[in-house]
Amino acid sequence: MAEQDGIRIAGARVHNLKDVSLTIPKNKITVFTGVSGSGKSSLVFDTVGVEAQRQLNAAFPWFIRNQLPKYERPQADAVENLTTPVIVDQKPVGGDARSTVGTMTDIYSMVRALFARQEGPGGRVSTYSFNDPAGMCPECEGLGRAVQVDLELFFDRTRSLEDGAIRYPEYKVGSPDWQIWVNSGRFDPAKPLQDFTDEEWHDLLHGTGGPKIQVKTKNVSFQTNYEGVIDRFTRLNLKRDLSALSAKRRETVERFMTTGVCHACGGARLNATALATRVGGRNIAEWCAMQITDLREALNGTDDPLAAPIAAALDRVIAIGLGYLSLDRPTPTLSGGEGQRLKMVRHLGSELTGLTYIFDEPSVGLHPRDVERLTEQLRALRDRGNTVLVVEHDPDVIAVADHVVDVGPGAGAHGGEIVFSGDLDGLRGSGTATGRALGAPAEVKEDVRRPRGELRIEHAGLHNLKDVSVAVPTGVLTAVTGVAGAGKSTLIGEVFRARHPEVVFVDQSPIAASSRSTPATYLGMMDPIRKLFAKAGGVDAGLFSFNSKGACEECQGRGAIITELAFADPVTVHCQACGGRRFKEEVLAHRLRGASIADVLELPAEAAAGFFTEKALRAKAQALIDVGLGYLTLGQPLSSLSGGELQRIKLADRLGRSGEVYVLDEPTTGLHLSDVDTLMALLDRMVDEGNTVVVVEHHLDVVRRADWVIDLGPGGGHDGGRVVFTGTPRELAGSEDSITAEYLRRHLR
Ligand code: ADP
Ligand code: ADP
Ligand code: ZN
Ligand code: ZN
Repeated sequence: MAEQDGIRIAGARVHNLKDVSLTIPKNKITVFTGVSGSGKSSLVFDTVGVEAQRQLNAAFPWFIRNQLPKYERPQADAVENLTTPVIVDQKPVGGDARSTVGTMTDIYSMVRALFARQEGPGGRVSTYSFNDPAGMCPECEGLGRAVQVDLELFFDRTRSLEDGAIRYPEYKVGSPDWQIWVNSGRFDPAKPLQDFTDEEWHDLLHGTGGPKIQVKTKNVSFQTNYEGVIDRFTRLNLKRDLSALSAKRRETVERFMTTGVCHACGGARLNATALATRVGGRNIAEWCAMQITDLREALNGTDDPLAAPIAAALDRVIAIGLGYLSLDRPTPTLSGGEGQRLKMVRHLGSELTGLTYIFDEPSVGLHPRDVERLTEQLRALRDRGNTVLVVEHDPDVIAVADHVVDVGPGAGAHGGEIVFSGDLDGLRGSGTATGRALGAPAEVKEDVRRPRGELRIEHAGLHNLKDVSVAVPTGVLTAVTGVAGAGKSTLIGEVFRARHPEVVFVDQSPIAASSRSTPATYLGMMDPIRKLFAKAGGVDAGLFSFNSKGACEECQGRGAIITELAFADPVTVHCQACGGRRFKEEVLAHRLRGASIADVLELPAEAAAGFFTEKALRAKAQALIDVGLGYLTLGQPLSSLSGGELQRIKLADRLGRSGEVYVLDEPTTGLHLSDVDTLMALLDRMVDEGNTVVVVEHHLDVVRRADWVIDLGPGGGHDGGRVVFTGTPRELAGSEDSITAEYLRRHLR
């Protein structure tokens, strides 16, 4: 490879990178490896990715450029020979309630076109759009869910009308409204509502017409037309602006309301006209509710020429291992890994070549079987003439690399160098942490712990679960496994968690806090630190707070200026006024053991443990080291941490407790093979301290070292949802009917 043919980086110094220079080959798959915190993201995303986007934006005329995010030039002498970047990361897909798998992949618009053709020429595509007034259900405006009367609450069906069957206070026995229904002559006032015929029930809720009804109380006397209970309630309360009602009345009304599947469209989001058209015997909503693998099969029975591109698009979704989803699945309910793979689908179908794709640990959430499919897709992207850069730990992804860049040797200040660059064989022989780990032996744990008791899940049926009953042993480490879509998150993250509220769920979601949050604020270290500074300088502790008058006025103590953008991720730019140090000069003049508050915030946890002589502060810094985050500085914004790092910070906050039940969702995310040892030591310690630990995990190095395994499957979606195996890792290795078992056997050496 001639040097000028590759992406050339010279003198990169972003974050912990130590003047890194290297060339990345084009039109190849390059995998970036290295321990967590070594600098992979700093190199791939914050140097190559940012500069590629900056150059791309700079190519636009200024009036367009003004509306694009501003990227700061990364700290590097040169980043050259880039091509157009496509960054496929794990940021949640998000989207509002109108965004679905179908709309996001554009497959829904193809399906709409297919339906529109059934009506012959002129019949319109917008008719089938739930985001267009022409197609949307008028009741829920295309959301499929609506705020409606909670009938179970509104009526006590065991009672009759004269016995107070209507619970809404304004319609109580004897009230003028109540008389409309009782005096109508349509119902037997003494008959319990549960004995009403369907017709009577409908008449009570929605009936109209008939003779005038006399209403007479002590204060009022009038004649009125009949109106059903729910229609009247809706007209007088909901059809008006709720905010126009008095606070007290609004509160009462809201108590009887609930958000549920829209009655008018049954959740289909579309109006009756749109739902009347059928292709292959199903309307468009029924098409979109089908599991994608089933929809693909159903398409075979359609001879419309438009079926072919839809089939091709569905094949891409299936190829990437997401065939268990349906087109109507709202994107906000997807996991980060699922979202990333869906973003991939759009590109897999693209004919564009010469792009640079950048992936962030695409194997997240994937069973070894699914990883195999993923690697085929990465190869396909390369073979179409693209450059593929992947940050990855998974040995099976590393195995498809044409070129490997190993960053290290350690994390934070101990990393930031290229310790190896070359092909896979070279890496294995290189003696780096990654090279050694790839060849390390793997054995199942034989001396498993005995459970102290169990927490049961009985008859779980949520999503795809098929009447699952299973025991989760306590006092041990349990791994819950299974292919993507098997039902792991549903069983553990939803059912188990809901039935055993004492369970502590340590997930990877962002920590809801201000943009000034850091490891030190999260672990409660800031208060004692401020007091130490105040005592040393004889000033007020408040001066050392990010949101006090001691903070830099330009960035309000954030150290950076954050610009929120309507349609893209926020862009962060270093604060020029304080140089990212967050405080005013006069505050920085105060010293503790020779260090300013900014210096202290720049200490990595491992240095902080030595800097502080105070026991409580040392312990917090030690907790960060124990969870493998010793390289994080005390002042690093939490918003800059990966999901896996956030999860480990949450763990650090809880170390030292016992008797708890912890559930961790894929704790190996972002972890190098050698970091997995640190994690296992941590999990073992938590169990030995008297806790129960349940991990939803694919990583076979965790599975083989658990005390107990619950394997779900056998497949994803409706092909999953069953417990296919429970037992020790040794028993799993000998099991015949589990896909996980098959991959575990291959993994053991
Ligand atoms: P990796 O991707 O290998 O896990 P990173 O590139 O994320 O490593 O991190 C390398 C080093 O840079 C770590 O010490 C990390 O704490 C630090 N770092 C990462 N992002 C930021 C940031 N936004 N601000 C300051 N330091 C950062
Ligand atoms: P896993 O965690 O094993 O990957 P999940 O529990 O996420 O599997 O999914 C199991 C099944 O339940 C899949 O068919 C998935 O599409 C479905 N599912 C999961 N979450 C939801 C949701 N919020 N709404 C509808 N279906 C869901
Ligand atoms: Zn509706
Ligand atoms: Zn500032």
